[in-house]
Amino acid sequence: MSEHHDHDHDHPHPHRHPPQPDSDAPLTEHQRLEIAVRELLIAKGVFGSDDVRRMVEKFDTQTPVLGGKVVARAWLDPAYKQRLLADGTAAVKELGIDMEHTKLVVVENTPAVHNLIVCTLCSCYPRPVLGFPPDWYKSRAYRSRAVREPRAVLQEFGTSLPAGVTVRVHDSTADMRYLVLPERPAGTEDWDEAALAELVTRDSMIGVTQVQPPATAAVS
Ligand code: FE
Repeated sequence: MSEHHDHDHDHPHPHRHPPQPDSDAPLTEHQRLEIAVRELLIAKGVFGSDDVRRMVEKFDTQTPVLGGKVVARAWLDPAYKQRLLADGTAAVKELGIDMEHTKLVVVENTPAVHNLIVCTLCSCYPRPVLGFPPDWYKSRAYRSRAVREPRAVLQEFGTSLPAGVTVRVHDSTADMRYLVLPERPAGTEDWDEAALAELVTRDSMIGVTQVQPPATAAVS
């Protein structure tokens, strides 16, 4: 891409290699900003480079696998599910997940109600249970359309709901994050927690999809 852009400046291109990930392509605005702010905060002693490394490593451990465990536990343990719906922050803490400075609200999908999560302002997302948000979650199109025409958005994710189902859209904020508790699919009645957790997808916990029933004879 970079070697074919139109430029009106005239530096020479003596030879051309395919772009490399470690090439000295100019940094984007956000990369420059991140480096400047990080170096300034380290220079000022607000935190050390070791703290940055620890945080990056921590982010690496946060994936939708954690959310899947929460959902599977709630499917299997009615008392846990009750605690989860009453106080999501405390209930995920029982599984060792720390919501840090944010509050977690868990909303349950039922045959009558389907929940969908968005952050209309930016990209607030329940990272301790789902990791980093997908790019589409941060897109302007999703952020505006999820509230204006949620059924059309759901349809584009392949989710068609019967007309009688109520769709509730939840707008996340800096200090309140949502997690959808999807419906447990039929055909999983004798599944254990690990198998159930594997069935749970990130998108189903954002509410753009539903957890699909297992292919027949997938697990015995
Ligand atoms: Fe946000």
